[in-house]
Amino acid sequence: LKCFLVEFTSWQNSAYKYGGIAISCGLFKISETDESVAYLIDRAVDAKKEAKKNKADTTVVLFDTTLMNALDRERSIVGSMVNALKKHEFKAFLQPKVSVKTGMVVGAEALVRWIKADNTVIYPDQFIELFERNGFITRVDYAVLDTILDYLTDAISKKEPVVPVSVNFSRRHHDNEDFAKQLYERISEANIPPELIEAEITESSFMGDINRLANNIDYFRERGVKVSIDDFGSGYSSLNMLIDVNVDTIKLDRFFMKNLEDKPGADIIVKHIIKMLKDMGFEVLIEGVETKEQLDMLKGTECDVIQGYYYSKPMPIPEFRKYIAEFKV
Ligand code: C2E
Ligand code: CA
Ligand code: CA
Repeated sequence: LKCFLVEFTSWQNSAYKYGGIAISCGLFKISETDESVAYLIDRAVDAKKEAKKNKADTTVVLFDTTLMNALDRERSIVGSMVNALKKHEFKAFLQPKVSVKTGMVVGAEALVRWIKADNTVIYPDQFIELFERNGFITRVDYAVLDTILDYLTDAISKKEPVVPVSVNFSRRHHDNEDFAKQLYERISEANIPPELIEAEITESSFMGDINRLANNIDYFRERGVKVSIDDFGSGYSSLNMLIDVNVDTIKLDRFFMKNLEDKPGADIIVKHIIKMLKDMGFEVLIEGVETKEQLDMLKGTECDVIQGYYYSKPMPIPEFRKYIAEFKV
């Protein structure tokens, strides 16, 4: 079947130059005869939805136990997410950002963890993609922001040292016209200086309405909220987008660091990208720095800030409070 579909689409695509047709096909093998027709069709549709995730190529997916387990898991997550939010099970962890020049902690990134009542921890790779699809991510992002605002309020009142904290805002927020206003309102209602909050916007947001995105970014920056582009270089954007948007910081995706280990020439790319971004006036942060060798290599560049396991993994907020109070260069 797949051969036939591939042959059909390539024939169509060569006949119609701008066609770009791809077929998504789902199959379900009938073994129990007592299932209803509706059930059988639903399973084939589940398989087709899975096939559709690969938009670019003609894909055939057979509904099997792996897919069944994945869908069961998704349904269980969807079934418990609203309650989990109510019960404050989405917690923000903080990972320090360290200045290359001074070795001081100059910021932190808030990363969500789902901590269930029995203390099992669910990591973002298990639910972010699903929440992006069903839209729930926007509520999780606001829950993370609220936790950070509460933390900063408490720390400031106790005269503890604080650093700007960046919060991830999914591209789904930009579907909402009032996003920028709503976010700013939350910060000002909490009475937190806007300079202490940074909005991380993933590179993939640039696939949507670029005008709205650029307006939102300007709205934040005019009011003192910093903005960074996350996962830069991970594949969605063109370099030209750097001309269209005005952000403070570019966060280079951690694959740049990963490539350094095993791909000769990767260091040339890293060095030149950093140089280019600095010449354009951005602050540059590199993610995923794990070793002393990587740090030393970056010290020879103009990279401003690093974030990675070399300094620390993301940690619960109480631990982070101790970490910055005791941090020594
Ligand atoms: P991200 O925003 O690129 O976050 C950095 C990820 O890299 C984090 O994974 C962090 O734990 C991990 N990381 C940091 N340093 C190192 C390192 O040295 N080596 C390696 N191998 N990994 C490192 P995490 O926390 O699992 O988050 C994964 C992704 O989930 C995030 O990638 C972000 O896209 C998403 N995410 C996490 N929290 C939130 C959130 O509150 N809202 C939204 N919208 N997305 C979030
Ligand atoms: Ca991020
Ligand atoms: Ca990132």
